[in-house]
Amino acid sequence: MSVKLILLGPPGSGKGTQGALLGKFYGIPEISTGDMLRQAVAEGSELGKRVQGILTKGQLVPDDVMVSLVEERVSREDCAQGFILDGFPRTVDQARALERVLPGGIDAVVYLRVPREEVIARLAGRLTCRRCGAVYAKTDSSLCQVCGGDLYQRDDDLRSTVEHRLRVYEEHTAPLVGYYRTLDKVREFDGSGPVEEVARRVEAGIARVIA
Ligand code: ADP
Ligand code: ZN
Repeated sequence: MSVKLILLGPPGSGKGTQGALLGKFYGIPEISTGDMLRQAVAEGSELGKRVQGILTKGQLVPDDVMVSLVEERVSREDCAQGFILDGFPRTVDQARALERVLPGGIDAVVYLRVPREEVIARLAGRLTCRRCGAVYAKTDSSLCQVCGGDLYQRDDDLRSTVEHRLRVYEEHTAPLVGYYRTLDKVREFDGSGPVEEVARRVEAGIARVIA
């Protein structure tokens, strides 16, 4: 059996957190394109140099770059039983490209809804692990509880950039909800409230799709 899921929702809706939990639950990798790009920047690779300025400004990396990055990633051995995509597709063109790359298509879209004010508060207050990408509320300690790496505030989590990212989301990514609705793939969840509660809602909802 294989499980192919897409996480959809605004920045700060909890895609990374829920994706990691779902990935563990099904024993499949959670693939965060944001983490992949930030890692490329940290390594100073060709890709990293190309996308650094785009990330800082909260703009979108060109579709062709993202499609080849994801195409390569999902063809690896660890994706044989499926995967969870966090941050891709982010435009309707990326979604169409994904259909071409994946013969059977995806199983479901996990759409996390969170009110705009809560999203802004979460992003402006969050810290990210430099090593593994785990996210924390600002009041927590300065070390990652998963891997011991140090925590920092992403430069695109500053308030001015957060508002820009939300506009980019509304314009380019929110239309994907409609796109996947016509394919009858969307499962919608209330993403507000404690992490464990959201996780229980999502696991219950997805179990019905996969079974
Ligand atoms: P968020 O927390 O806003 O969901 P991510 O960590 O998923 O952020 O992505 C951070 C940044 O990486 C985005 O603002 C964008 O610049 C770039 N990015 C990630 N995935 C994609 C994609 N599929 N298409 C274009 N740009 C992307
Ligand atoms: Zn960590």
